[in-house]
Amino acid sequence: MTHPKEERTLVLIKPDGVQRSLIGEIICRYERSGLKLAAMKMLIPTAELVERHYLVDPEWRMKTGKKTIESYLKKGKSPPSEDPLKVTEIILGNLKKYMVQGPVVAMVWQGMHAVGVVRKITGGTEPLTSDVGTIRGDLTIDSYEVSDIDGRAVRNLIHASGSTDDAEKEIVLWFNKEELIKYKLVGEAILYDINLDGILE
Ligand code: GDP
Repeated sequence: MTHPKEERTLVLIKPDGVQRSLIGEIICRYERSGLKLAAMKMLIPTAELVERHYLVDPEWRMKTGKKTIESYLKKGKSPPSEDPLKVTEIILGNLKKYMVQGPVVAMVWQGMHAVGVVRKITGGTEPLTSDVGTIRGDLTIDSYEVSDIDGRAVRNLIHASGSTDDAEKEIVLWFNKEELIKYKLVGEAILYDINLDGILE
């Protein structure tokens, strides 16, 4: 088993994050947590890559469709379809249109609880309800309601892997082996080393 400090997660700064000139601000928020940047590049993804990315979790279509239908019903509105898979098809179509519209920044962050730490810093999926203090809560303003009316994907700046399993499957879609750099950060000693003898002179 690998040590928990080896946990990795994929982060994408979506086209709205790049267009809003938030690349530096976003990287800063992850970097100062103590996580280590293991890979990074800028690219314009193809619709095929975006589709493969969202479908790495075989349950994603069903989960997202059901969640969306529930949120429509909770607001007393009727969903675009009663069939979760049809609802997700619309969402996926909008995501594909959105993600190929301009460059995105793909990154791999590594460290203890990388998936959970990155999701905490990123905030909930819908910017209107993401917590204050998170990237989505602080730096943008979109909602499902308005994105649905306008027939587009919700502009929420970031993708962050939902689980360690998804992360490993997503990382190989976006990066080849040579792009993933293994190195030590001096600061990792204070995060992970058991014996801190040697600090005092
Ligand atoms: P994430 O893990 O926070 O990115 O969220 P999900 O994996 O659940 O969703 C991925 C993407 O699907 C989001 O970034 C949204 O664009 C879209 N999405 C998810 N849930 C909904 C929803 O309830 N309504 C709408 N309109 N889009 C959604």
